[in-house]
Amino acid sequence: MAFDQAGRFVFNAGRPIRGLVVTETIDLRSDTITKPTPAMRQAMAAAEVGDDVFKDDPTVNALEARTAELLGTEDAVYLPSGTMTNQVAIRCHTEPGDEIFCDADSHIHWYEGGGPAAISGATCNLLAGERGIFSADQLAAAIRPANQHYPRPKLVCIENTHNRGGGTVWPIDKITEVAEVAEKAGLKMHMDGARLWNAAVASGISEREYAKHFDSVSVCFSKGLGAPIGSALAGCSEFIARARHIRKMLGGGMRQAGIIAAGALYALDNNRDRLADDHQNAKALAEGLSRIDGIEIDPASVETNIVIFGLAKMSSHELVERLAGQGVLVLPRDDKTIRAVTNLMVTGKAIEQAVEIIRQGIC
Ligand SMILES: *Cc1c(COP(=O)(O)O)cnc(C)c1O
Repeated sequence: MAFDQAGRFVFNAGRPIRGLVVTETIDLRSDTITKPTPAMRQAMAAAEVGDDVFKDDPTVNALEARTAELLGTEDAVYLPSGTMTNQVAIRCHTEPGDEIFCDADSHIHWYEGGGPAAISGATCNLLAGERGIFSADQLAAAIRPANQHYPRPKLVCIENTHNRGGGTVWPIDKITEVAEVAEKAGLKMHMDGARLWNAAVASGISEREYAKHFDSVSVCFSKGLGAPIGSALAGCSEFIARARHIRKMLGGGMRQAGIIAAGALYALDNNRDRLADDHQNAKALAEGLSRIDGIEIDPASVETNIVIFGLAKMSSHELVERLAGQGVLVLPRDDKTIRAVTNLMVTGKAIEQAVEIIRQGIC
């Protein structure tokens, strides 16, 4: 890939390529690359703060109350990252030797550093879902009866939208069916809702409507919503009190965190509805790509802001490097597929340019 000695991406931004001049990097690596806007920074600069570990930070308190209200839960707690939010939830729900059920492609299993084993002593039972979505029958078949040989089944995790699945939205009736099986077996339900905001905008089903099937929900402010830092975990008061204890134990108790929480509050109030623009841009990107020879994608598979496309004739690593040289940043998902994520920093015009640059880069 195009990296300099310090490990930064190197671009040729501004270099004319066959009639196109890319003056700005089009960064489609993730929706985590979004930077706070001047208005968000103003809100952050003006935030009232206090020591949040003493619950003295009025801005953090307001963010937690607002999150709980949006999710219809008794309480919520602010945390530094989505990973910590999921891991605190798992730690709260399980004891060492317990078993959690999640999709084989889930973030919890792929991208959280082995957290369930390291932090909770829990084992993951991986379900082979379709683009991240498994069925109630699959779950029922995986739950073993109580027996001294088996780990104790304890928790079901659902990821909505599903990251590696390609931004797929969990259908609400499937969630209801899975929740019924879980309840019958005495299992708790956790939703990794890092992109729940996207699911709500895409489906028209509110965050609260999704959340009512779960014992805990994590949400992220620093992805599509555009805040610089932070996630939250929501649930009943007793659960969140326990989560505060685990958060402190793991070193996630923050002091004058109102500075960053103000960015998250601003994002909740101003940037949720505009996720529809990201979804429209993702659709346009998918449709543009589907007309390029050598690219494999079904635009109908794009439900939110994540676009995964296959390459018929070249390696993804080679194309990613070539595109980086032209100022378009995407990530290889594996040797034959690439992931592009639309976000707050990328306009519809930039998407048109990106399609053109990909057309010229492909062989
Ligand atoms: C990004 C993400 C997280 C959390 O990521 P952090 O980088 O730790 O904030 C959790 N779940 C999903 C599905 C994600 O995409």
